[in-house]
Amino acid sequence: MIVVLLGAPGAGKGTQAAVLRERLGIPHVATGDLFRAAIRAATPVGLEAKAYMDAGELVPDGVTIRMLEDRLALPDAAAGAILDGFPRTAIQAEALDQFLEARGSRVDAALLIDVPADLLVERLSGRRVCQASGHPYHLELNPPRVTGVCDLDGSALVQRADDAPATVRARLAGTLGDLNDVVAHYRATGALRVVDGRQPIPAVSAGLLAVLDAGLRSMGLR
Ligand code: AMP
Repeated sequence: MIVVLLGAPGAGKGTQAAVLRERLGIPHVATGDLFRAAIRAATPVGLEAKAYMDAGELVPDGVTIRMLEDRLALPDAAAGAILDGFPRTAIQAEALDQFLEARGSRVDAALLIDVPADLLVERLSGRRVCQASGHPYHLELNPPRVTGVCDLDGSALVQRADDAPATVRARLAGTLGDLNDVVAHYRATGALRVVDGRQPIPAVSAGLLAVLDAGLRSMGLR
C-alpha cells in the first residue's frame, strides 16, 4: 500500500507518519530525511542537495525522483510505504505514478493535512528535532517529557537550520504553490482525502486513520 502524506512544511506530516507507520506496518519514507542522511554521509546526492536545502529551496526533480525510486526499491518497502515530503511537484507526482504503474501498483491514498498558512510559521519556529534521528517535537504543541531531550533515543533536541524564521518564510512562499499542484493532481486521480490539521495531534491521527480506512474499504481492500 502506498500512502502519500501531503501538507505544507510544519503541517505535521512527520509526526503523523510515525503514527501511521505503527498502524500500517510499512516504512516511513521522508525525502527530507533521506537528503539529510546523504548530507551527513557526504554522498554526491548530499553534496548536490545541500545548497538548495540551506536556502529553503526544492532540490531539482531529477535527483529527488531517482533517490526516492532507489529507496522504494529496497526490500523493506516491498509491501508499500508512507511517503512524507514527496511528491512536492506535479512532475514528481507524475514520475511516482509511472514508477508504481510499472510495478502494478499505485498511490492508494493521498492524505492532505490541511493547515492555514498563518499557523505554519508558528508551527515551524516552535519545531525541534532530535539530533540522532530527526524525531519531531514542538515546544508547546508536542513537548518532550524532559526539556531538550528526545523521548525515544535520549539525544539532544535542536532547531533545524531551515526552521530559522528567515528561511521559514522563504520555504513557505516557495512551496505552497507546488503543494497546490500536487493536491490538484491527486484530486484528479481520486486519491485525495483532506483532514483538518488545526486539531490536536491525536485528533489529526484519528482523522487520517478514519479516511484511510474508509478509502480502503471503498476499494475493497479492507
Ligand atoms: P522536509 O524535511 O520535508 O521539510 O525537507 C527539507 C528540505 O529537503 C526541503 O526544503 C527541500 O530542500 C528538500 N526536499 C525534501 N523533499 C523534497 C522533494 N520531494 N523535492 C525537492 N526537494 C525536497
